[in-house]
This record gives sequence, C-alpha cells and structure tokens, in this order.
Amino acid sequence: MIHTSTSSQQAIQLEEAYAAHNYHPLPVVLAKGSGVHLWDIEGKHYYDFLSAYSAVNQGHCHPKIIGALIEQAQTLTLTSRAFHSDKLGECAKYICEYFGYDKVLLMNSGAEANETAIKMARKWGYQVKGIPENKAIIVAVERNFHGRTTGIISASTDPVATRNFGPFMPGYQVIPYNDLEALENALQNPNVCGFWVEPIQGEAGVFVPEDGYLAKSQELCAKYNVILMMDEIQTGIGRTGKLLASSHEHVQPDMLILGKALSGGVYPVSAVLASDDIMLTIGPGEHGSTFGGNPLACAVTMAALEVIQEEGLIENAARMGELFRNRMRAIQAKTAKVTAVRGKGLLNAIDIDEKIDGRSAWDICLGLRDNGLLAKPTHGDKIRFAPPLIITQEQMEECCDIIEKTIML
Ligand SMILES: *Cc1c(COP(=O)(O)O)cnc(C)c1O
Repeated sequence: MIHTSTSSQQAIQLEEAYAAHNYHPLPVVLAKGSGVHLWDIEGKHYYDFLSAYSAVNQGHCHPKIIGALIEQAQTLTLTSRAFHSDKLGECAKYICEYFGYDKVLLMNSGAEANETAIKMARKWGYQVKGIPENKAIIVAVERNFHGRTTGIISASTDPVATRNFGPFMPGYQVIPYNDLEALENALQNPNVCGFWVEPIQGEAGVFVPEDGYLAKSQELCAKYNVILMMDEIQTGIGRTGKLLASSHEHVQPDMLILGKALSGGVYPVSAVLASDDIMLTIGPGEHGSTFGGNPLACAVTMAALEVIQEEGLIENAARMGELFRNRMRAIQAKTAKVTAVRGKGLLNAIDIDEKIDGRSAWDICLGLRDNGLLAKPTHGDKIRFAPPLIITQEQMEECCDIIEKTIML
C-alpha cells in the first residue's frame, strides 16, 4: 500500500523525523502538478518558478512524456547493458542528431554525467594528447556547481559543499569565472586535458559571463588542444532561449553535458555527448551504470526532446524571458529593494537588499508562496526565477504582478 500524507503539517513532520536533513525546503507540501501549475495538499494553487532547477522545462506531467513513460513501463524497463535493447540505439541516434554530435553516453544523474565527462577528458588526455600517466589536470572555475560526488566537490569553492568531506581528489586547477587571461595562463600547462565550465552559472545565482567569453574560451581550448567540457545540465534544452546556452555564441562544445530537462523531469536521465575521437577512448568495461540508457529512460527522453521542438518552447523561452526581465527592471526602477536583474531566456535572478525593509530573499520567497508563486533563494540574497518554458504571456503577466505585489508590500 502506498501511503500519502493528508496534511502539510504531517508531511513536514514526517520528513523532519525520518528523511535526512540534507535540504532546507521552503515550507510548502506539493501534491499535484500540471504544466506551470502546482497544488499543495490542502489544494492551494501555485505557479512553479523553479521547475525543479530547470528539470521540468516541458511542464509538469506533460501528457506526451507521461504517455511514453506508461507505454514503455508496461513493455520493458531495464535490461542492463549486458544486452542490447530496441530503444538505446534509436535514442542515441535521436540525441546525437538533435545536438549535432557523433556519440552519446547515457547516465542517470547530472553528477554522474559530470563524473563521466571527467573520466573521458582524462582518458583522452592520456591516449590522444599524450599527457604523462596520472598527471592530467582539469581546469574548473570559481563558484562552479557540477554536483555532489566526492570527485566533483573536489573542484568546488563553496565551503558548504566541501566542509568535512575531504580528502579531496587532486587534478584540478580552479581559476576565476569570466576571466580569459586566467584561462589562457592555465591552458598553457601541457598537462591540462579539459576546461570544465557552465555557460551561465545557475546555482551560483544565474551569473552570466560577458559576451564573447564562451566563444573565446572555445578558441583558447582549440589553440592549446584542450577539451571544452560544457555543463549545460541547467542551461541546456531551451532554458535560456536557445537550444543550448552555448548557442548564443555559436559555440559547439567538444563535450556537452546534459541532464535535468533531458527527461522533462519525469525520470533521471543524463548524458555526455562528444565526437568519436573523444568518446571512443572509453572501451568495454571501463565505465558504465546499471540503469544508464535503459529502455524507460530512452523512451522518456525521446518524447521530452520532441516536446521542446513540437511546442516551440525555445522561442517561447526567449520571448517570455524578455517580458520577465522588462517587468523586473520596471520594479527595480521603483524600489531599491531589488538591486539587480539578470539572466537569459527563462533562467533569471534578482538580488534583494535585505536592509531596505528587513525582509531577506527567504522572506520574499515565503511571501511569494503566500501569494501563489514558488521560487527558492540561492546564496543568501538572490532569487532565481525559472518557470516551465510552456508559460503563456497571460500567465507570465499574472506572475509578474504577484512578484511586484510581494516585493512592493
Ligand atoms: C543540477 C546540476 C548538476 C547536478 O545534477 P544532479 O542530477 O543533481 O546530480 C550539475 N551541473 C549543473 C550545472 C546543475 O545545475
């Protein structure tokens, strides 16, 4: 029998008592979702302005994706990679053609995709670039977020993510973000195999680098024979108003790392895409995952990517993002409470000045919740706004009214 909590208070108490305290959620207990809408246990309605950190770009419970899930779940779910399936090859071809790469390696979580990227970049470094054994270095940037494994947090500069989790994995050099001079200096080391970067730093607070940073990074990576490893787990698949955030600067990363919206938030699916000379350095038995590339994941992923195209979600994200930032800038012009507005497409953030009326970003998010909109503060004074890409103009105007009302009091 599947138990369901029947009051928000009970659900929160149970989580507190029995689930690990590795998150600090906003106090709201969700029981149902559809499109841009969420409902709590008591039936109160909210607009979702987090989209599960951009995993639900296609909207909650999208009928096409859920249809694919149900059909495949009733047919075949998991074979392991000990055998072939009738879905993996089709899905791999679909993804490769969709993003323009030779090959794809499918995993489950975003962290796993990044771990895959690290291993692949190192292997390429030894086998193709000729780096001496165990000397490979990956250049990462300050304030990165790539996931929670020990290998990944070893490159983190966030003390909350690293404190008491050492010892850390060697083989990284961490440089400032958005700093091409530091990048060129770092890449001159012949032992560098990869430059690992987010095109917009989502978790750090939607930090958008200067125009030209990505294109110039690609140029420098090519010049020094280094793999550009682009973590588009949060920014990819339409979120920023292009298929990839890299597309804004016509950059085709050597290695593309995807997750989150790859499955429309229905099932954990992540991927690394690359050319044959990188991907084929990994041989049988050298890397993998029991669930990676399973038939259920493949069916859901193909449906989720189709929805992005069929419904014009990339174009809509670009249009609705403009509208959103214009409305936020108008609020900023009226009050010193909002100190910054930034973002691309539907990945945006505002900064809050707590001193103005004593309310922190967390307090504002509680107010937004009361007024029927869910968003989550990040790094103290920042609020990220990232609704599903299916949001209509009418809904967006209503949501901006809610945000304005909440901020202005
Ligand atoms: C969410 C995220 C990850 C980690 O994905 P998980 O599925 O939580 O492991 C990695 N990189 C970026 C940029 C992310 O936003």
